[in-house]
Order: sequence, then C-alpha cells, then structure tokens
Amino acid sequence: LQERGLEDSSCTEGFSVMVKESCDGMGDVSEKHGGGPAVPEKAVRFSFTIMSVSLLMEDEEDGEKKKAVSIFEEPKPNSEMSCKPLCLMFVDESDHETLTAVLGPVAAERSAMKRSRLILSIGGLPRFFTFHFRGSGYDEKMVRDVEGLEASGSMYVCTLCDSTRAEASHNMVLHSVTRSHEENLERYETWRTNPFSESAEELRDRVKGVSAKPFLETQPTLDALHCDIGNATEFYKIFQDEIGEVFQKINPSREERRSWRAALDKQL
Ligand SMILES: [Zn+2]
Repeated sequence: LQERGLEDSSCTEGFSVMVKESCDGMGDVSEKHGGGPAVPEKAVRFSFTIMSVSLLMEDEEDGEKKKAVSIFEEPKPNSEMSCKPLCLMFVDESDHETLTAVLGPVAAERSAMKRSRLILSIGGLPRFFTFHFRGSGYDEKMVRDVEGLEASGSMYVCTLCDSTRAEASHNMVLHSVTRSHEENLERYETWRTNPFSESAEELRDRVKGVSAKPFLETQPTLDALHCDIGNATEFYKIFQDEIGEVFQKINPSREERRSWRAALDKQL
C-alpha cells in the first residue's frame, strides 16, 4: 500500500480478489494408483489461481467513480506453481452426476463466498475482502459438462451461442456470446418440467441442447484446441488456393481443386 502512496490506516475496505478456476480431466490414471480398493480409472482435478488483489478507491476528483489500485498480480498465471489444486477426484469427466455430487460442496462454498466478505486482521486493522470468480480454465468438454449442455457431438455446436451445426456452416463470420449460466439454469428447468407439454423434439429446440443441471458457472472463452482446429482449416484453404494460383482463375473446376488438395496433402 505504501508503495502505491496510500495511507495504510485508511485502506480497510474495498479489497477485491480475482480467482481463476480450472477443472480438467486427467485421463487414464489406472497405472498410477497401484493396488487397493477399486476406483474409477479416470481422475478430474479442480484447481484455482489467485490472479490479482486490488483495492477499490474513491476517485479524488470524482467522488462517484471508483478506481482500482493493484496490490498483487500473479506474475505467472499459467504456471503449475500458481495453480492450486483444491479437489482431486477419481471420476470420469463425462460422468455428470458424480462430478455434480463431488463438486457440489465446492460450488456451494463458492456461491457463499460470492455473497459475503472476508474480514482479515492485517497490520492491526480489519481489512474487508470480496471475491470474484472467473471460471475460464475449462476446455469445451468440461464446459459442456458443468453447464449442463449436450456432449460435443450435439447439433448445438457452440458453447457460446445457440448456433446449430447447419446454421454454423452457413455463417462462419458473425458470432456473439449469447449463452449464459443463468439462462442455462432456466432452460434446464424448462427441460425438466416441459411447461408447454411439447414433444421431445420441440422441447430440445426450445432449450437449445441443455439437458442436465448446470452446477458451475464458466466464463465464456475460446477453447484453445478449437482455435487451433479453426486456424488449421483456414490455412489449409489458403494454401490450397495458393497452390492453384486461384487469384488468376475465375471459376476453377472441381477436378482442379481436387488436384491442388492432393498436392497439398502430399506436402503434409
Ligand atoms: Zn457460437
């Protein structure tokens, strides 16, 4: 605080802690746990990272506005060292029910923390901390699982919007984040109760692929693997067109395109 030119004794309220949450399957662990009681041969790890601690100060010029003064920032947010495991469980990551049961207490604690303040005595004074969670350390499979969406083979291809496979193939450009945790929860209620007595097909269309109870709130992010796949597909098309010098031709035939693709595949 002193480094930032702040008066230590006046800084008791407004400390804000940003926590990144991650959860991932660890794959097959059958060889790692040796002999003992029979347990599922897959494991899931839930972990968190303290990303930053900041202090919300009232702006001196404009009393209404609050500005954040950074007190701590994690220098290596993606390092194993800053990622603290909280729960390690023997469960298959696609087992929604067991995952819900094991992570239930974590989710409950988390929502209690979101609604309350932690008072810590530091330097002889009580300091008030609030906590904010960003569930961004989830891959697509895990997002689908904890947000109650159908698995990745679903016709609802996107975890960020309601686009279907057919819609996505016609519109690869326009995209905005429209899904939210709250809406997923509402949709699950609709799915469970079927208030309009619709057919399974109609109901599924109404809830856009929500089929289980969401139990953890994730932050919309692009899955790195999906980014890579998307980029690779895009570059593949560009290379193919470059091989055929498509900029010189107007309407290349299907056979021509096929031969360029073959030439490219040979290089790969
Ligand atoms: Zn989308």
